[in-house]
Amino acid sequence: MSALLPVYDRDLVIVSGKGSRVTDKEGRSYLDFAAGVGVNGLGYGDRKVLSAIRKQAGRMIHSSNLYHNEPASALAERLVALAFPAKVFFCNSGTEAVEGCIKFARRIGRGQGRTELVAFERSFHGRTLGSLSLTWTERYREPFGPLVPGVRFCPWDDLTAAAVAIGPRTAAVFVEPVQGEGGVRVAPVEFLRGLADICRDAGALLVSEEVQCGLGRTGKLFAYEHAALRPDMVTLAKPLGGGLPLGAILVREEIASPIAVGDHGSTFGGNPVAAAAAMAVLDRLTSHGFLAKVEKRARALRRGLNALARKHPAVVQVRSLGLIVGVELKGPAGPVVKGLREHGVLATKAGDNVLRLLPPLVIKQKDIREFLEALDAVLQAGAGSAGAEPAASKGTGGAVA
Ligand code: PLP
Repeated sequence: MSALLPVYDRDLVIVSGKGSRVTDKEGRSYLDFAAGVGVNGLGYGDRKVLSAIRKQAGRMIHSSNLYHNEPASALAERLVALAFPAKVFFCNSGTEAVEGCIKFARRIGRGQGRTELVAFERSFHGRTLGSLSLTWTERYREPFGPLVPGVRFCPWDDLTAAAVAIGPRTAAVFVEPVQGEGGVRVAPVEFLRGLADICRDAGALLVSEEVQCGLGRTGKLFAYEHAALRPDMVTLAKPLGGGLPLGAILVREEIASPIAVGDHGSTFGGNPVAAAAAMAVLDRLTSHGFLAKVEKRARALRRGLNALARKHPAVVQVRSLGLIVGVELKGPAGPVVKGLREHGVLATKAGDNVLRLLPPLVIKQKDIREFLEALDAVLQAGAGSAGAEPAASKGTGGAVA
């Protein structure tokens, strides 16, 4: 392990997973309320995902993007059928999806000299240089400057400021319908609709950045559906490949025509095994009653958290949309993450004082109860309070997205 660059604060060695639980090297079992940071939407070891992977791996693992492969073509058609008329580009991660969107937005806006980008305070869009330029947190950005010029950050939920920032040079506006890493902040419907209006009037593209909140996490397949709008581009990644690296960009069909051969590419993007896994993921997410169950589980979790908020003064606010949940605390979230782990529950942070919960979408009611009991005990012991010591030890979920 020591040969790895220490860019993560970690110590636990996870060796296997089943359903909503993982097991470490010492044989300890944990309930995973981070779902591999939003990736394992269907939990660990989903039978149909595994079978799709095995079948496609036996047939062909990779062919190259110089040729079509059937699983990727079928997946693109499926995504379009589920979203809106669009062209799809496949990549391997969230940050690559954002990078691709930046390039496509500039390519589309090129004739009008549109090179600028707008993002929001507390946004997180990734760690590569383009997406990092759209990421608000100073400590992620500062060591790596100069970043991409021409990015403006607007205050969250402030349409007046957005109307000033978005103009004739704006290529695209990137918004997470639910900010994840930024503290689980749910964009009000009126804010998203207002942004769409401003973008339309200014001729700028609106990107619904759904790497973390897309694909069922909020209780709808796409998070933009909550505001009943049609974005110009959508980014998807984390849960798409069922745990295999896969990202996607949807570009609205009417605007996609300037993007031509050679404008972008990826050696691995649209890998057939990942695409086959994604088809199994989408089969499940779109199966009858699945999203209704996500909402039911989300309501149970929310009810329990609201009860804990009434009981423990350390809880400032509970924010959620479906199964993306933030518990804002008076004190640092690190000790709460640490305490939960001691109770056999994995969770993560969003910023310094928000406990972020991204349980598998298939989480069972009894697991929700187990989590709530653990959190109750951890808060009871004083973690999360204003005076609590920030956790200095390893594995408190620092700097993860
Ligand atoms: N965009 C959002 C909204 C994210 O939450 C993340 C990661 O958490 C990313 C982009 C970057 O994704 P990746 O880590 O797959 O590059």
